[in-house]
Amino acid sequence: MSSILPPTVKLLINGEFVDSQTDQWREVINPATQQVLARVPFATTTEVDAAVASAQEAFKNWRSTPISSRARVFLRYQQLIREHLKELATLLSADQGKTLADAEGDVLRGLEVVEHAASIGNLQLGELAHQVAGGVDTYTLRQPLGVCAGITPFNFPAMIPLWMFPMAIATGNSFVLKPSEQDPLVTMRLAELAMQAGIPPGVLNVIHGGAEVVNALCDHPAIKAVSFVGSTAVGTHVYQRATQAGKRAQCMLGAKNHAVVMPDANREQTLNSLIGAVFGAAGQRCMALSVLILVGEASQWLPELVDKARKLKVNAGCEPDTDLGPLVSRDARTRVERLIAQGLAEGAELLLDGRNPAVSGYESGNFVGPSIFAGVTPQMSIYREEIFGPVLCVMQADSLEQAMAIINANPYGNGTAIFTSSGASARRFKELIEVGQVGINVPIPVPAAMFSFSGSRGSRLGDLGPYGKQVILFYTQTKTVTERWFDEDDQSGAVNTTITL
Ligand code: NAD
Repeated sequence: MSSILPPTVKLLINGEFVDSQTDQWREVINPATQQVLARVPFATTTEVDAAVASAQEAFKNWRSTPISSRARVFLRYQQLIREHLKELATLLSADQGKTLADAEGDVLRGLEVVEHAASIGNLQLGELAHQVAGGVDTYTLRQPLGVCAGITPFNFPAMIPLWMFPMAIATGNSFVLKPSEQDPLVTMRLAELAMQAGIPPGVLNVIHGGAEVVNALCDHPAIKAVSFVGSTAVGTHVYQRATQAGKRAQCMLGAKNHAVVMPDANREQTLNSLIGAVFGAAGQRCMALSVLILVGEASQWLPELVDKARKLKVNAGCEPDTDLGPLVSRDARTRVERLIAQGLAEGAELLLDGRNPAVSGYESGNFVGPSIFAGVTPQMSIYREEIFGPVLCVMQADSLEQAMAIINANPYGNGTAIFTSSGASARRFKELIEVGQVGINVPIPVPAAMFSFSGSRGSRLGDLGPYGKQVILFYTQTKTVTERWFDEDDQSGAVNTTITL
């Protein structure tokens, strides 16, 4: 009896989508059904080298391609992404598990960065100081670095690759992308559309794999910069390895994001915002609110929050009206269930237990429903570890100062939010909180494309963030030119051995 193998995910090398010659493969699995959607290769060293070599070769022309031509590629690309939005979201939902609405959001947030890349003409301007000395001007050129690499996580397989290669390529670099091996399908479709938009062969390459491929990218002498988004453990390793090899690196890492609710907040708006930000995408967002600090009388709102969470609909992402889809893998589900058990064992009170929800028609899906712990302390493992699932840890504080002290003592600094109707409280919070992205009555304050993602402390390594203005600095080298011109017949100069212009 012959069996039909699922399709293979291709590598993109030098403008061609090619089959890998590797003997190491992994299955890409629909997390709601366990259906094998495809097989993804772990690229060989030869294939990694070929991708980098093609990027090196393509850089020679791309670096001097006029800025307006580079911008036009991204104008076409944004149009293609818009035209294929539904198709991309459907693929993403099947591959990753999130709801169709959330999958569209994943694509649309990435699209904003593509639109930003299309305005590269304004963004990559240098500076000029006229007359820094008699007849002398100084100006800067912002030149591309060469071959850059990006390594992305599973949870935003559209948005995060789109944070990286459009800005790197728009600034004149060539790129090698290594998507998550867990859900590469939508990323590959985006790569196809990018080529259709007119990115020349070799300027964008995509290879697949795990630790070995990532290490090869960190070590490769031709790669000048590495952009990473993923967990703290892996990102710390990538940062150290890439910088040790003399590269620029920016690594956006794990998180534990706290929400503070003041008793003067708008109750209904706050509770609804919290539900979306805690449980949306099954908690698999680096900006998910995973800790809630209720200040003073706000603690009385907890039963209502639990009621709202209990009503959320757990189902496959493709089903209408689903609020939470499955976790990305069996391993992720087992890990989240283990942490819930550990929370109970360490003495936290499980007000809502989302383990083993009944999901009719999808009995083998990796589902965990909304779960809420009260009485959580900073020593518990459910507080110290990033759970990355639909699990909320609730704490209480007597004052805003006490709430801020808890947050500032936590090692992570990705995002935080305060809910209040007091301008004074909000101002104190934004001034004193040691977290890089702050929401004021906004639960998930991911900055729009003209700003940069600005997580801080344990949630980031490297001083420049992805996309926005900061990434222009990351993907370019500043060259400073100081120049003076003489009239042909001006013979008035004298030898000058002092350090002056
Ligand atoms: P991950 O760290 O497991 O994987 C990220 C990438 O690293 C993948 O491409 C993977 O193939 C590669 N990788 C995995 N193990 C490796 C190893 N040992 N050596 C070298 N490379 C390795 O992360 P994930 O599970 O895919 O994503 C979830 C994590 O990403 C969470 O911690 C989340 O907070 C974080 N994240 C952070 C941000 C942010 O902006 N701060 C955004 C999204 C996700």
